[in-house]
Amino acid sequence: MNVLVLNCGSSSLKFQIIETDLAHIENDTDVMLAKGLIERIGSQSIINFQAEGQIAFKSAEPLRDHKQALLYAIKWITNQDSKIPGIADLADIHAIGHRCVHGAERFKKSVRLDNDVISGIEDCIPLAPLHNPANLKGIYASREIFGPSVPQVAIFDTSFHSTMPETSYLFAIPYQLYSRFKIRKYGFHGTSHRFIGYRYRRLAGKERDDVNIISMHLGNGASACAIKGGKSIDTSMGLTPLDGLMMGTRCGDIDPTVVEFLSHNEGITMDEVFSVLNKRSGLIGISGLTNDMRDLLQEEKEHQDRRAKLAIDMFCHRIKKYIGFYLAEMNGTDAICFTGGIGENSAEIRKRSLTHLDFFGIEIDDELNQLACGGREMKISTPESRIAVYVIPTNEELLLARDTVRVVLNAPRIW
Ligand code: ADP
Repeated sequence: MNVLVLNCGSSSLKFQIIETDLAHIENDTDVMLAKGLIERIGSQSIINFQAEGQIAFKSAEPLRDHKQALLYAIKWITNQDSKIPGIADLADIHAIGHRCVHGAERFKKSVRLDNDVISGIEDCIPLAPLHNPANLKGIYASREIFGPSVPQVAIFDTSFHSTMPETSYLFAIPYQLYSRFKIRKYGFHGTSHRFIGYRYRRLAGKERDDVNIISMHLGNGASACAIKGGKSIDTSMGLTPLDGLMMGTRCGDIDPTVVEFLSHNEGITMDEVFSVLNKRSGLIGISGLTNDMRDLLQEEKEHQDRRAKLAIDMFCHRIKKYIGFYLAEMNGTDAICFTGGIGENSAEIRKRSLTHLDFFGIEIDDELNQLACGGREMKISTPESRIAVYVIPTNEELLLARDTVRVVLNAPRIW
């Protein structure tokens, strides 16, 4: 089955075409046929498409909206010159999977799209006012273009965390506020954490119910997840992705009083305060330089920049805090798994986050840690380490494609 996976942001459209079916899933033999990214939809859009093994197609075109962008992508996908194996026209796309950010308490697993599901995703807009409308743009456009004969599936970032117990997901505020408004922790990056759990299970040769790990997704956005018995029992992001770890531009955990204090003393509105916390905090806020971890590490090394070092130290300190928290919550863990742009590529951050944890018997092998970069999946702890440490590149698109197949075929989920 050729699955088109769509991930729409407010002004971007990312896609992959993945050939997969139940046998491919079982044997890990799915094939990524092509991928693409259109940025700056609404103005002069930047286009970057690539069929596997072919030279990238790059262009710039004025694309008005997501429908135009999708039509543009489809024109390229079905063009013979693109050389995507097995794709000659629209009929060669057999199903579509959409990444959806917020499914609230309603969507606990991936579902086939119909009018009722779409209105459910629309109902979740107040909880994710930036993300869900963008996801919906992709859904509306692809339903219009492909029509009802091509099955479409929604996969939610929040659904993996729907197994969290009340003790993890409730905020300690009046319970009626939860009952009335569903104010609670939902968690995000669920597809990534779920994929890490699945890969760990394969690497360690375990059954799903025996997977006990701490998954660390460290990218520009970052979150930690405690997976016990194969289920998410806690995660660091909350009602929105602002909570938890320190991130590229987001503050993570903070005393809520800061909001009122900042508004009052700076004379700024709530919206402006949240713009500071979302866009001008985290690595960029502390360093005053950039939200890019690569550049910060370089600044620290080459110019001994004090604030670059401080930002990196705080980033690692927060990771350590969550590892300690989850070790207590889970009563120990079998493994800590790193993923995301930083987690997959920075030996330095992995090492600094795990120093002074010898009390827990965590020991990484420096040589293996250095080797584990650029998309390599490997164990980096010493044989003596009481807790294993892995680097596992995430692949959310693959999980989106696999879920799409399973939902369309009504097959049980392996993970
Ligand atoms: P997003 O959350 O936007 O998907 P990514 O997962 O792509 O983010 O991660 C982006 C982050 O990964 C950036 O801070 C980038 O600097 C960092 N990164 C990528 N490669 C390296 C590297 N070799 N060393 C350190 N950080 C890296």
